[in-house]
Amino acid sequence: MGVNLSTTSKYICHSCGYSADVWDAPDVAPIATVDTRHCLGCKSLVEVPIVFHGGGLVGDQDAEPDFLNRCPDCNSSNVKLWGVKNSCPKCSEHMTQEAVLA
Ligand SMILES: [Zn+2]
Ligand SMILES: [Zn+2]
Repeated sequence: MGVNLSTTSKYICHSCGYSADVWDAPDVAPIATVDTRHCLGCKSLVEVPIVFHGGGLVGDQDAEPDFLNRCPDCNSSNVKLWGVKNSCPKCSEHMTQEAVLA
């Protein structure tokens, strides 16, 4: 039960039905900071490790693991920042945030 200050928001494309949980801010997890990226390889919004800080787990502190800035699903390094002003990765229509029911 770690303290996790980051939250995700759900975005939906009403054109094709695609939906994804998007980090509101990069999430600092113990091994790596992850953030939402638009993967051009599989045309999805994916959670991508962007900063590695698990140096204690590997022998070489300078080694940058090759999973950084790579899509965990298709292993593509062709990942870009995504924001709500950007369009649906599937059909390029506008995505909207799903209303949160309190
Ligand atoms: Zn769409
Ligand atoms: Zn991908």
